[in-house]
Amino acid sequence: MDKKNKKNSKYMYISIFIAILSLIMLIVFNFNNKSSAYKLYVDFLKDIQSKSVSTVYITNTPKIKVKMNDGNIYETDNPRTNNFKEELLKQGVKVSENLPLSAKETIPTILLSASLVFMAVMAIKSSGISSKRLKGVDNLDVTAVSNVTYNFDSVAGNEEAKESVKDIVDFLKNPEKYSAYGARMPKGIMFYGEPGTGKTLLAKAVAGEANVPFYAISGSDFVQVYVGVGASRVRQLFKKARNHGKAVIFIDEIDAIGKKRDGGKTGGSDEKDQTLNALLTEMSGFNEKEGIIVIAATNRLDVLDPALLRPGRFDRHIEITLPDLAAREKILALHLKNKPTMDINIHDWAQKTSYFSGAKLESLVNEAAILAAKEDSKFIDNTHMDKAYSIVLAGYEKIERNHIKDKDKKITAYHEAGHALLTLKVLPDDKLSKVTIIPTSKGAGGYTLSIPEDKLYQNKDYLKKRIMVLLAGRAAEEIIFGKEYITTGAYNDFQQTTRIVSSMVTQYGMGETIGLLNLEELSHLNYSNTEDIIKECKETLDSLYEEVKSIILKDKILLDKIAENLIQKETLLEKDIKELIAA
Ligand code: ADP
Ligand code: ZN
Repeated sequence: MDKKNKKNSKYMYISIFIAILSLIMLIVFNFNNKSSAYKLYVDFLKDIQSKSVSTVYITNTPKIKVKMNDGNIYETDNPRTNNFKEELLKQGVKVSENLPLSAKETIPTILLSASLVFMAVMAIKSSGISSKRLKGVDNLDVTAVSNVTYNFDSVAGNEEAKESVKDIVDFLKNPEKYSAYGARMPKGIMFYGEPGTGKTLLAKAVAGEANVPFYAISGSDFVQVYVGVGASRVRQLFKKARNHGKAVIFIDEIDAIGKKRDGGKTGGSDEKDQTLNALLTEMSGFNEKEGIIVIAATNRLDVLDPALLRPGRFDRHIEITLPDLAAREKILALHLKNKPTMDINIHDWAQKTSYFSGAKLESLVNEAAILAAKEDSKFIDNTHMDKAYSIVLAGYEKIERNHIKDKDKKITAYHEAGHALLTLKVLPDDKLSKVTIIPTSKGAGGYTLSIPEDKLYQNKDYLKKRIMVLLAGRAAEEIIFGKEYITTGAYNDFQQTTRIVSSMVTQYGMGETIGLLNLEELSHLNYSNTEDIIKECKETLDSLYEEVKSIILKDKILLDKIAENLIQKETLLEKDIKELIAA
């Protein structure tokens, strides 16, 4: 609890105390009043005659109250005569048709109401709904940022992602052109990838390149205590953006409103649903000619509600990856540009910073600049970079990837080299376009991307070879590091091989156990001979695995070469691999 909160809770206790005290006072006085003096009607008449009555309170009750000149109050019976009031007035007695409130009662009543109001205000405050947020319903602080300062040159690396948004820029500049051709442009784009990889930056660059306003908001800004506020904010945001015509609307942390619904009971999910629905409605509301693009960002695609990713919504998904060696070099160069530096070998620093995100590289350079400035040094040099490096490493969470040991890097490199080698050997017609040990957000340690040859059917021979390529990651691990040191890295590979081999045996008529029968169609027969099917699948995989190992062993030199280059450069493209083979 901070100082302010402590102070607030002190006031809270005081006001609770006052409230209770005044409540007690009220009860006591009321009790006293109940038993307050009673006089017979005849005695009351005597008082009137002796002119000692000041006020009579005529209410529609069996008893009425009478106030004497000396301030005392007593009760007497209500005569309920028609001209009672007139009679009294004639006698010079004041008549009131409300109940008397003595100071004894008014003061506690006022105190009670005041402390109740105070407590309500404090409760609202401490639940985080500041007055500004309350107003927020009709007052969203989103102002467009003009982006002349950002363009694709501000984003180093990430070439594939940039390539994937180039047509969007052209569309934003010239929506009429696209609609003249009847082309349907995406309304929403989803950037996904680790934090700090430059998703926001790329979204700004898109707006900057197209020279349209950029509206940014975070998904968490939509999540409010009150149901309906988020939805209303969504509508305002779109209204604001549309008033300007073309725009890029950027929603960071879309998961805050767009998480998969986990089967019912999560508190406040009503609010999220409403907000999400408002967003989807707004998105389907604008048409292609308007030139509005919504870009959303998330760290993980798989946690999002599929409704968000459907056609017409965020249907273009672009992965923003951690930078590889070449990209890190570019990012470092970009951030060091225009800074006074001396003897900083950017290539070396790129090598030292595996698994650093763009944001982390930026803060490395920034820390170094701060250190140099503190020392009044003329230049930023390697000693500053070294110190900054430790600062940045210590500053980020320890589980982060830069702590991946060289050993792990080596394992990943051999695993991916195995996939690559087998692709080259058994599926030379599949285009091996990229091998990398930079992890994806899907959790793989690295990946090998091959583009299968285009064909209508996949024959048995091809499926077996696909399986071999998939098994090769594990096979390479086993050959290089030994049977006891195989890793969990092949988890996803085995999911795929199991799927392929079981389809071959049970659906495609490519196995022995059930021959040309299809297992699904047999399900109504209570066929239960799955053991034999599993045995056949296992034997098929086992024998393919042996084959893979012998292929790798025969070409171990090439495997080593690929792995070593991967450790060096982290990403190998098709041309790099061709060079390796030729060398
Ligand atoms: P994200 O939105 O993915 O979390 P940001 O776009 O906010 O990441 O990146 C934070 C900062 O990191 C940027 O402002 C920029 O300084 C730096 N940065 C990240 N990626 C790059 C990149 N590819 N090129 C240049 N700078 C980058
Ligand atoms: Zn693998």
